[in-house]
Amino acid sequence: MKFLLVTDLDHTLVGDDEATQVLNQRLQSNLRSKICLVYATGRSYASTCELIAHKQLLEPDYLIAGVGSEIYQDGILDLDWAEYLSQDWDKMAIASLAQQFSQLKPQSPKEQNPWKISYSLEPAAENSSTVQALQQKLTESRLPAQIIFSSNRDVDILPKTSNKGNALTYLQKRLQIPSEATLVCGDSGNDISMFQQDVRGVIVANALSELLEWHRECGTENHYLAGAACAWGIMEGMAYFWEF
Ligand SMILES: [Mg+2]
Repeated sequence: MKFLLVTDLDHTLVGDDEATQVLNQRLQSNLRSKICLVYATGRSYASTCELIAHKQLLEPDYLIAGVGSEIYQDGILDLDWAEYLSQDWDKMAIASLAQQFSQLKPQSPKEQNPWKISYSLEPAAENSSTVQALQQKLTESRLPAQIIFSSNRDVDILPKTSNKGNALTYLQKRLQIPSEATLVCGDSGNDISMFQQDVRGVIVANALSELLEWHRECGTENHYLAGAACAWGIMEGMAYFWEF
């Protein structure tokens, strides 16, 4: 049976260079044939490729980019996923509605794609009420969309069906890998959708309060709070759930 390892990049797989290299070596030396490796990140495809090269990460079997808005295999966009996301998604109308919120600054064009509109907020206490007001506007306008708010800064608007969790479940079903053989790893708010799937999950020790709060309220025995940070935490979780 194959195992499915789905990991976030920034502050999870990447963040402690020594840990990343130790995990890389372990995967390469004796686990690579057993494990289907998936990276699930908020980064764009281009930015992810830069990070893979810069940090000498292993080439993944699949890449979930732009918080679930795109799936790539060997550099090729998964068109079935793209078509699925395109249903009920009016990017132009949503962008013009979001423009009414002056606090929302568009992220660089590199971070945008046909299924993702990304903004940044300056750090401020009232940011979550801004996000709530935007959500209300979208609902009133009957524009199906979801907002993923991360790191008290990033605001990603995506099709309702798009997030890291749904994307990984799409791959898990396609690959027919059972839940006990699927492990997700993350550190922040945009990883919560992964932990909500029928999978096992590792929350690394350096996780942000938004994810720790979710874990306190919704965590189950399928969620493991690692004692170690970044990729050390991933290895701890692999030992805990898979015994390797
Ligand atoms: Mg992260």
